[in-house]
Amino acid sequence: MSRDIVLVAGGGGFIGGHLVADLERRGMRVRAVDVKPLDEWYQVSSDAENMVLDLSEIDACRRAVAGAGSVYNLAADMGGMGFIETHKALCMLSVLINTHMLMASRDEGVERFFFSSSACVYAADRQTSPDVTALAEADAYPAMPEDGYGWEKLFSERMCRHFREDFGIATRVARYHNVYGTYGTYDGGREKAPAAICRKVAEAKLTGTHAIEIWGDGEQTRSFMYVDDCVHGTQLLAASDVVEPINVGSSELVTINQLVSIVEEIASIEVDRRYKLDAPQGVRGRNSDNTLILEQLGWEPSISLRDGMERTYRWVYDQMAASGRYAAPRATVVS
Ligand code: NAD
Repeated sequence: MSRDIVLVAGGGGFIGGHLVADLERRGMRVRAVDVKPLDEWYQVSSDAENMVLDLSEIDACRRAVAGAGSVYNLAADMGGMGFIETHKALCMLSVLINTHMLMASRDEGVERFFFSSSACVYAADRQTSPDVTALAEADAYPAMPEDGYGWEKLFSERMCRHFREDFGIATRVARYHNVYGTYGTYDGGREKAPAAICRKVAEAKLTGTHAIEIWGDGEQTRSFMYVDDCVHGTQLLAASDVVEPINVGSSELVTINQLVSIVEEIASIEVDRRYKLDAPQGVRGRNSDNTLILEQLGWEPSISLRDGMERTYRWVYDQMAASGRYAAPRATVVS
């Protein structure tokens, strides 16, 4: 049986949608699977084989992997801090997806299995200051990951390792650090900081009301990777011999206040920042140490935050402007 199908689990999601599009561009035969109805997928490729399946169930995983030679598992119940701090059980239940996907892939004879882990596996006590030392892969142990979401990722990383060691399936694991870009969530509660800030600034632009809410004091630090870099790094890693989990993230560190300033500049607007100090903020500071990825893959993300945010803001603004929820852009009113 030919195994030329590349399966993207979570293909209706943000990163999965971009990955499907890129694999298609490279001439791969792609199958995209997601639990959401097709009309809720962020991107739908008419050339891919698109399937709606609940991959927490083993039978659905078996249907999804039939004929696949490689699998990218990006399916998970996830969101930004507002979601993962309040839905820990749901986040933990994603363990069913990766576990059943691994079992079905092993039984089907899949050769390569990619798992999207997260920087949320890193020990919390290394992320208490905004003045961070970037996180290196070894910092995940002794384990003290993000409650719920991070524990699921760490457990699933180990499951990948044991399936590789015990059953010979070539697993590859990326620890993504905050990914942002077009065709993703920007409202509804699952959005992450870059998309949320784009939405708030676009709303200020569209309504003329310039007060925006910022979670925390805005001095927490992060790095953000543009989705094109993420898709490129994912495929590089999947094709590589790197068997241990590795950071795939930008090392361009910013505070949330600086991120807001970047979007203000892109939108040519000044907002009135209102700090919500009791809102979910996650760790105080986090950055990606890219020593290992540079050494192993000779590559690291390179799209600047300014360029990536420009593309993201324009996309979010256009979506909102086209939604019919706002009247024509109004003249600026300083609140
Ligand atoms: P996303 O929510 O846009 O995509 C995940 C997709 O999985 C969704 O479309 C969802 O419907 C689907 N899904 C959920 N449960 C499913 C099920 N039972 N069966 C089939 N599909 C199911 O998220 P994303 O940002 O594209 O993230 C992709 C992966 O990368 C996830 O595993 C996520 O944890 C990981 N990750 C993302 C980031 C980030 O910043 N976006 C950072 C670290 C790790």
